[in-house]
Amino acid sequence: MTTICVFCGSSMGNNPLYQKAAKSVAGYFIKHNIRLVYGGAQVGLMKILADTLLENNKEVIGIMPGLLIEKEVAHSGISQMIRVETMAERKEKMMEISDGFIALPGGFGTFDELSEVLIYNQLRIMDKPVGILNTAGYFDKMLEFFDHSVHEGFVRAEHRNNLLVSDDIEKLFRLMQQYSPVSMGKWLEDIKAESGHNIHH
Ligand code: AMP
Repeated sequence: MTTICVFCGSSMGNNPLYQKAAKSVAGYFIKHNIRLVYGGAQVGLMKILADTLLENNKEVIGIMPGLLIEKEVAHSGISQMIRVETMAERKEKMMEISDGFIALPGGFGTFDELSEVLIYNQLRIMDKPVGILNTAGYFDKMLEFFDHSVHEGFVRAEHRNNLLVSDDIEKLFRLMQQYSPVSMGKWLEDIKAESGHNIHH
């Protein structure tokens, strides 16, 4: 994995541990010479991450819709800014050029990007590892809800388990390196069966 896309807050968050986490991710990227792909902003945790890498002469690629570039949140010092038309196109591009994805604490933008890569993996449009850096237990309640969704029969356990989680970037990377995609066959058979599609066979 040489190119990793990070989703993270356009805000800093209220706990200084979040900024520390963004710096620890940058430190890992520097040590292992990993290229960053991200939302391209110069605000929040995104700024911490990009700036730390740039100070260490590492490659940072931003992907941003024109609409956001014009609002002047774009980072002017990054190695490359890819301008796209829409938010949907941005996610497509992120998925195309990255080998894996990490979500750091963030808000709806981060949740949206995280959901998108999870569903692409689920549908096997993509087979790339997705990890959550669970700094200060920020994602605990979301993960609890995902477990609830498994319990209630809306998310399959194997899809839930394929979302890799750690509060430590080294450990998270190790999990991502061992990632293996979930096969689609059984899942599709099961959801068809529960909807009565097998009664005519
Ligand atoms: P949020 O988690 O809601 O702060 O949104 C951050 C995520 O959504 C990032 O990973 C970005 O790709 C995208 N995003 C949201 N707001 C912005 C912004 N102002 N500038 C750039 N990207 C943004």
